[in-house]
Amino acid sequence: MKKIIIANWKMNPQSAKEAERLFRAVAQGIRGVKNVDVIIAPPFVYLESLNAISYKLQVHFGAQDCFWEDRGAYTGEISPVTLKTLGVRYVIVGHSERRAHLGETDEMINKKIKAALKAGLIPVVCIGERERNHLEDTLLFLKGQLKKDFDGIKPSAAKKIIVAYEPIWAIGTGKAENSDDAQKIAVYIKRVLQELLNAKAALAIRIIYGGSVSAKNAASFVKGGVRGMEGLLVGGASLQADEFVKIVRSVALQK
Ligand code: PEP
Repeated sequence: MKKIIIANWKMNPQSAKEAERLFRAVAQGIRGVKNVDVIIAPPFVYLESLNAISYKLQVHFGAQDCFWEDRGAYTGEISPVTLKTLGVRYVIVGHSERRAHLGETDEMINKKIKAALKAGLIPVVCIGERERNHLEDTLLFLKGQLKKDFDGIKPSAAKKIIVAYEPIWAIGTGKAENSDDAQKIAVYIKRVLQELLNAKAALAIRIIYGGSVSAKNAASFVKGGVRGMEGLLVGGASLQADEFVKIVRSVALQK
């Protein structure tokens, strides 16, 4: 199975010109890479213009959020159906920055996952603990998030869902999770998904890691094959084309 690397550009860059420059540099740098799916998640406003220049390039598009209704009086929100028409395949749902700054709850995230699936998008469901004391506490916390986020999700939807484990203490801090614990957590998440859905569905859901991923540590997270992380969600490092290309290429070398 191909590894997945998602570039979460967050609220960057500040102009369409810079976005185009970054996009072209990344697309150029990953030319010829075969066994990794690269997904760029820029701010909504760049999706259309970047898609227009993506012809024949090896990238897919993701959005950083969507609303849970298809249309209507929801000022400022973006419909998953609209994203689909713009060539978007993936949508990040429940990022910790949205949970923290915009008050997104697991109930809202659950509705967004369902709306994304209905629109034919692949939701990338972000979960992760605020701080790490004991690994057991983290596992229990993740189980609680998964229970609420996956409430009412059918096992048949599993192959269209990605779970991103993103410990909040690791996001943007330069302190990434260690790869051994990341592997244990990937296995645990699969076990919880098996309880919530079923064994086949749990196997089909891909688990990826995010939090201070760099060219130095990227490969260590995806080494475990199906027992480990199956890809990465990259924030800060995805804004530097050279660094991001190195991340993609180092993951592409892993079996
Ligand atoms: C993120 O915000 O999704 C993220 C992983 O950020 P960073 O890589 O900067 O830690």
